[in-house]
Amino acid sequence: MRHTSRLLVAGLSALALTACHKNTDADTSSAPERTVFFDKSGMDTTVRPGNDFFTYANGTWVKNTKIPDDQTGWGSFNTLYDENLKKTKVILEKAAAADAKAGSVEQKVGDFYASGMDTARIESLGYEPLKPELAKIKALTDYKGVLNYLATSKSDPGGRLIGFYVGADDRQSSTNRINFVQAGLSLPEKEYYTKTDSATVAVRKAFVTYIAKLFTLTGIDPTSAKTKADGILAFETMLARSHKAPADLRDPVANYHKLAVADLTRQQPNLDWRTLLNTMGLSKIDSVLMGQPEYYLALNKSLPTASVDELKDYLTFTLIDGNAGLLSKPFREASFAFKGKTLNGQLKEPERWKRVADAVDGYLGDALGQLWVKQYFPPEAKERMLTLVDNLQKVYRERIDKLDWMAPETKKVALVKLDKFLKKIGYPDKWKEYTDVNVKRDDYFGNVQQARAHHVKEDFDKVNQPVDRADWMMTAPTVNAYANPSNNEVVFPAGILQFPFFDKDADDAINYGAIGMVIGHEMTHLFDDQGRQYDQNGNLRDWWTKQDGERFSTKTQAVVKQYDGYSILNNMHVNGRLTLGENLADLGGITLAYQAFKLTKEGQSNQKIDGFTPDQRFFLGFAQVWRIKVRDEAERVRITTDPHSPAKFRVNGPLANFEPFYKAFNVQPGDKLYKPEVDQAKVW
Ligand SMILES: [Zn+2]
Repeated sequence: MRHTSRLLVAGLSALALTACHKNTDADTSSAPERTVFFDKSGMDTTVRPGNDFFTYANGTWVKNTKIPDDQTGWGSFNTLYDENLKKTKVILEKAAAADAKAGSVEQKVGDFYASGMDTARIESLGYEPLKPELAKIKALTDYKGVLNYLATSKSDPGGRLIGFYVGADDRQSSTNRINFVQAGLSLPEKEYYTKTDSATVAVRKAFVTYIAKLFTLTGIDPTSAKTKADGILAFETMLARSHKAPADLRDPVANYHKLAVADLTRQQPNLDWRTLLNTMGLSKIDSVLMGQPEYYLALNKSLPTASVDELKDYLTFTLIDGNAGLLSKPFREASFAFKGKTLNGQLKEPERWKRVADAVDGYLGDALGQLWVKQYFPPEAKERMLTLVDNLQKVYRERIDKLDWMAPETKKVALVKLDKFLKKIGYPDKWKEYTDVNVKRDDYFGNVQQARAHHVKEDFDKVNQPVDRADWMMTAPTVNAYANPSNNEVVFPAGILQFPFFDKDADDAINYGAIGMVIGHEMTHLFDDQGRQYDQNGNLRDWWTKQDGERFSTKTQAVVKQYDGYSILNNMHVNGRLTLGENLADLGGITLAYQAFKLTKEGQSNQKIDGFTPDQRFFLGFAQVWRIKVRDEAERVRITTDPHSPAKFRVNGPLANFEPFYKAFNVQPGDKLYKPEVDQAKVW
């Protein structure tokens, strides 16, 4: 479906790219009590902090760390994800072994896990589970049939060709709408189809090989398979030309189009939206949102001109590709060789239990989540977090109050918005149920399709209905956080509220530098270049005076320029526009967290711990949660698609603008991070 997560669309910002599978043994013995909260041995004190604080704080760790073979990168997010996954495994194995009551939460997650671990059965089936769908595709005779086939699917309506999500209407935030977004591509973004550098050309070549491989695995001869693969690349390349670049998706106004279904049907007659929506079960709606109409106009034009065989090849490939992980080994290996190895540089596939545990979290997140927090998330942690969030909110209020560049009328709304944002910590108040998912112990493929259909139905049922403000978009064990300006909320799942981000026994310097900065980061998102465009009720409308808007833009342009100047690998530049929201959040995050830290007892003392002053520990705690080593291949994917800057700049970038850091580490003119105060970017 490319049933897009709301987290990937304009207006909404996560803390980081969700971490991938981790490499660990299955050791579940309890860890010794922690007494050290930052890793002094990981520092490289031969580097001047004012030249490169990331390397000063992490250089020895970077030098000595080997990225595990099954990973695209390794760092704090990954190690914590790894810990969480081990905890998940304990829960799942226990549930799978118990003779749990049919329909209970334990039975669902336990049997789902057991079905995914039943490799004997999965191997014996080969690609048998896909055969009914493949037969349906084979029987199609024209593009109208293709559209009808896509719209009829319960588990994947629209397939890869039609992308959508259901969420709050940006301009009427109390109501959910269906929002159609650009889709159709199997490679990470449009430039992968057009760039002519040798690395990208090699990716395209491997992509064609991969497509052909999947066809041959279903009995097609290699020559026909290659012809089909070439046709699919050509078809996707044509679609890619209509795509907006990732940086252009960040403008919520430019990506908002409310369209009457009648008008849409006139505008794109070949897509016949009225029929399409009716077939999807959405006959009652008379208008939709469309993020990028350019894509659908291109699709409308190309569908009748493409041959039906080309379209059928595309459907066949995307069906197998989208389910390869659920099939027998040859399919999984082919998929990993391209997506894991070629695209992201992974050397070997993560162990099966990790992939299945991850699938349980993805498909039955609230069932697993409730067992998970019962065991691993103490109520005290929630209280500590709430206090931290409140402290940062107070600081933010003071700072907005004192801003010299914002008019009183704009400040007034900003403060109302700040006072009423929603704080979600740990896990949702109400767990979602999966009553219509009848999990069977011997049918992994079927379980996944049922769960997908459940999520689709849940979404479709919400269309044009009031927004449930208590909804969560991440599961409880997730190592991440997000801000959602259309619901005026910041959300911190239980998964991230642990060491090294947060430890109840750590001193305030470390906690404020780590999780405090994360909190400040999310709060700033509500006021970054996207978030600021939403008002106190989450509606996209311009509530700023003209002059304030212009001043904000001037300030943020300096940040765009600063990050445009950073590069990695062989001169691949950070895209200052794509990463602007995250960079503003990083800068705001460190500013708010530091000021809140200075209100604590430790923040006001000069008592050194481990040889470092409280301020120094604050910055070291911050720098160490962002440490990560990423494979070159994955770095290349990220720099074109990820709205977050590479980790080194997430540390050095904000600090180059931050006077208290200069003081703490005696940063002087001539140091690489040094900027005279007038040149330091300051927004919030
Ligand atoms: Zn963020």
